[in-house]
Amino acid sequence: MTPAFRERVVDLDAVTGNVRRLRELVPTPHAMVVVKADAYGHGAVECARAALAGGADWLGVAEIAEGLALREAGITAPVLAWLHDPDEDFTRAVRAGIDLGVSSLAQLEAAAAAQDGTAPVAVQLKVETGLSRNGVAEEEWDAVFARARQLESEGTILVRGIFSHLSNASPEDDRAALAVYERALARAAVAGLRPELRHLAASAAALTLPETRFDLVRFGIAAYGLSPFGGGHGADLGLRPAMTLRGRVAAVRRVPAGKGVSYDYTYRTARETTLVLVPLGYAEGIPRHASNRAPVSIGGRTFRVSGRVAMDQFVVDVGDLDVKVGDEVVLFGDPATGVPSADDWAEAADTINWEIVTRLGGRLSRSFVGGAA
Ligand SMILES: *Cc1c(COP(=O)(O)O)cnc(C)c1O
Repeated sequence: MTPAFRERVVDLDAVTGNVRRLRELVPTPHAMVVVKADAYGHGAVECARAALAGGADWLGVAEIAEGLALREAGITAPVLAWLHDPDEDFTRAVRAGIDLGVSSLAQLEAAAAAQDGTAPVAVQLKVETGLSRNGVAEEEWDAVFARARQLESEGTILVRGIFSHLSNASPEDDRAALAVYERALARAAVAGLRPELRHLAASAAALTLPETRFDLVRFGIAAYGLSPFGGGHGADLGLRPAMTLRGRVAAVRRVPAGKGVSYDYTYRTARETTLVLVPLGYAEGIPRHASNRAPVSIGGRTFRVSGRVAMDQFVVDVGDLDVKVGDEVVLFGDPATGVPSADDWAEAADTINWEIVTRLGGRLSRSFVGGAA
């Protein structure tokens, strides 16, 4: 198959297999796969279906619009959305059967106001346990829990879950957050709440801190086959990276020693050599910070980006390798196949694998292999 000029190829069987593997590694009654931000760049609808095929029984999104897109695609599985526009009208989410993550009394009242006279509005209360993002602060727990219980007894809402999110700062910090979370559960119980779903762990804690697993774990990065611990531990866990980022050589040029390459000439050829032009740039989300550092696979060998990553393209010095216009270039994929990994790119760009895959876009196309399709 001829590769596209520049594309992400997402292996949906890898997503299904990863979720199946994670369900074996982390035995919990429920597993949510987080498909926010277009499934970390992998394609939300396709990955949601692949995750459900692997045994996920919940889907997580940040924004309601992301949940509605799943519904419009015909996905009926339970969905939770937890980051809301301050002016959000929850009516559409309620009609679509999307559980609302609620982080404040104002959001709780807005959720109650969206009740349409049929079933209670399902909410999951998010409590702040250390990350300092959203979530009900400890000082407000009693007021929010009491009001939630009152709305529940009126049949307006159902508190299906109570959840929080961990910092991954250290095991000690996560255990401290766990203690705060357990305090919140105890206070909710005193208020009369009996949530069916208690959840705290995302990929990292689910795999390393069993005491954070409760009724449900939320898998994001691990479902896409990348390690939440950095540095290519995904394979150790039996996970397979789902995304391959590749393109086709757009130009080949033989140059003498001392030739400057790309903007600012931060790279100069050491000897007569062949330069290859790769048509992906920072417009596609290739980090400019990885200039002169990130690995690239061409013709079965690994080279480095030579010179600056530009908006549309970068150059690779391939020495005397025989390369032709149109040949395939792989930026990253499954390292088990001999190509660089998203972790290699993360290291080269001083960032994390989450950002490397999620930031991709621009003019990249996306294709899928595997899956039911
Ligand atoms: C993004 C997110 C996750 C997934 O985290 P990973 O580390 O990618 O597994 C889980 N829960 C919440 C609340 C999130 O925002």
